[in-house]
Amino acid sequence: MDNKFPGKDISSEDLKSKFPLVAKKNNNHRSTFEVAGAKFGEELITFAGPNMVESKELILDVAKNVKEIGANFLRGGAFKPLTFPYRNNKYTETREKGIKWLSEAKDKYNIPIITEVMEEKFIPLVAEVADIIQIGSRNMQNYPFLTACAKTQKPIMLKRHYGSSLRDWLGAAEYILFEGNEKVILCERGVSVPHTHRSTSRFLLDLQVVPAAKEVTHLPIVADPSHATFWRPWVRSMSLAGVAAGADGIMLEVHPDPENAAVDPLQPINYAEFRKLYPEMQNIYKKFWS
Ligand code: PEP
Ligand code: MN
Repeated sequence: MDNKFPGKDISSEDLKSKFPLVAKKNNNHRSTFEVAGAKFGEELITFAGPNMVESKELILDVAKNVKEIGANFLRGGAFKPLTFPYRNNKYTETREKGIKWLSEAKDKYNIPIITEVMEEKFIPLVAEVADIIQIGSRNMQNYPFLTACAKTQKPIMLKRHYGSSLRDWLGAAEYILFEGNEKVILCERGVSVPHTHRSTSRFLLDLQVVPAAKEVTHLPIVADPSHATFWRPWVRSMSLAGVAAGADGIMLEVHPDPENAAVDPLQPINYAEFRKLYPEMQNIYKKFWS
């Protein structure tokens, strides 16, 4: 594990002095915890929903369908890190309204919520509705923000920045545990590399980080093949591969009409695709990991 280039990969000294809370205490150390009935580390957890909480009608329909299929959590962003500042009627964040619709979907269909917060002033609003607070890849190293989210003591999903090493990612997770908040879930969502094998694809799913993370940390790790592949036809195989690689959960963009999704329409799968994929993922998990 020790190498000639300290700072890039993880040394045994890092485990003791840089992220002692995140590091495994022994080979068998694995965090298991429950969030709204979902047992992280003990069962395969699925998160499903649209990229963006586009409308009340959309989020209620998705909640009903993904709950019925078996998803543990409804995902969807009301506050979105959109790459460019231009907006139109469709391509626009729903913000406070979106959080309210998520809350209605949660109550109506009895499905817990994971949603992103991007600004400190909205942490209390999001924490009231979210069962898990999502910290997006772009905020992964915003340390005061990590600390502020951690202080809510809500479970947190920390998405990996697409340019981050495992070492820097675990350093960011340590900031959350440092506040006494132990319910931290890592999420691999694709890394930025020179090749993605397709012009429409932005990132590359780093499946190797799953066993690499599990070698050094006790925290659960989830894979997000939707954001990583950016390309619907690859989502099924990469989801199955993510489970086979040892991921504790899979986050998926699911939309009733993917081609007309307001954001990233190339990546969501539809209800029928999720219905087919869900038991396939569960079967691989049961066969290899339980
Ligand atoms: C998301 O999950 O909607 C999202 C914006 O992800 P990321 O931060 O990984 O880009
Ligand atoms: Mn997204």
